[in-house]
Amino acid sequence: MELVIVGNGPGGVELAKRLAGEFDVTVVEKENIPHYSKPLLSHYIAGFIPEEKLFPYSREWYEERGINLLLGTEARLIDRSRKVLVTGRGKIPYDALVIATGARAREPSIPGKEHILTLRTLNDAKLIKERLEEEGEITILGGGFIALELAGNLAKAGYTVRVIHRGKTLLGLDGDLSERIRVELEGAGVEFHLETNALGADEEGLKTDKGYIKGRLKVCAFGIVPNRELAVKSGIHAGRGILIDDRFRTSARDVYAIGDCAEHGGVVGGTAKAAVEQAKVLANLLRGADDRYDFSFRSAFFKFADFSVAIIGRTGSAGSWLDEDVKIFYEGERPVGVVVLGNTQKAFRLEKAIKEGLPID
Ligand SMILES: Cc1cc2nc3c(=O)[nH]c(=O)nc-3n(C[C@H](O)[C@H](O)[C@H](O)COP(=O)(O)OP(=O)(O)OC[C@H]3O[C@@H](n4cnc5c(N)ncnc54)[C@H](O)[C@@H]3O)c2cc1C
Repeated sequence: MELVIVGNGPGGVELAKRLAGEFDVTVVEKENIPHYSKPLLSHYIAGFIPEEKLFPYSREWYEERGINLLLGTEARLIDRSRKVLVTGRGKIPYDALVIATGARAREPSIPGKEHILTLRTLNDAKLIKERLEEEGEITILGGGFIALELAGNLAKAGYTVRVIHRGKTLLGLDGDLSERIRVELEGAGVEFHLETNALGADEEGLKTDKGYIKGRLKVCAFGIVPNRELAVKSGIHAGRGILIDDRFRTSARDVYAIGDCAEHGGVVGGTAKAAVEQAKVLANLLRGADDRYDFSFRSAFFKFADFSVAIIGRTGSAGSWLDEDVKIFYEGERPVGVVVLGNTQKAFRLEKAIKEGLPID
């Protein structure tokens, strides 16, 4: 059985790893470099790890498992009637095809946006690192996890770091939690400008509704745009991302989608953790085993400077503090979500409890 995976990110590589040996696996990747860790990019920019530490798998790793890795190869069209993937380097027949094309960084839409960089790929990271070493300071737009990871690591490395965020709170959390995270990051040296709208950029800085903020290096780190073009061109249904059902099936027969490119129930994953967990479940489904991915349950673990934050389950309702580091969110009497500050072990325990409906203590 020929399994073709488009995309060598965490979703694609996890699926290839799990099914190698059982299927004839081909991974098609447009970048010309092996798989690298995006969560480690801000550590690399900060100078905490060398470039080679970003690459967990060597070319031999793929060869030993019999995975046919086609780098520098862009997937252009899925010929659904012939069950063939058309790439920039020829056609590849498939029995099952998995789109794991991920997402790209959302670009700002303000005048002077050419003066603002984005962060998604290793090339983006290299450019930011080079500019940072010249400038010694950085202005980051965004209040989500990518912005805060970058801010925390660069402040820890001794750079001057400003975060500009138009929202009132960080990570979409409530006021209390956002305040705790802000105070921790301020302690590490990050300067915050919340409820501040960027209106335009020039070489020297950023125009905002709260005044001009000086700083030549500006990086936009808010939001992602799912890479759905391959699916759309091939006549596969897409909304914001590629539309999938409970079993990762797209509207085309034997074509599946996982990770940041996929949309289920109006939601796009957005984390490496979700992409990897989806790949594990899809591997079982492709083997013919019964398995389910719980799309309604989301959890993500982050580290901002040295401060860890876990956001587990649904955290949109009113919450109450269990202790000084743990806030639980309820729907009626039932705990449905939890945020854990600074304690990863506790976070793992509570993730299991929330997921399995066990008592919280
Ligand atoms: C700076 C940064 C920090 C992050 N930190 C964390 C974190 O701490 N924790 C966490 O869980 N997540 C984190 N994330 C998010 C995480 O990296 C993504 O959610 C994850 O990479 C998604 O995996 P994916 O396999 O769906 O797609 P991607 O990783 O985007 O990989 C998709 C691959 O498909 C390739 N591709 C696209 N189109 C084509 C095509 N037509 N033909 C061939 N190849 C194609 C792309 O080149 C890419 O290599 C971070 C992201 C960034 C940028």
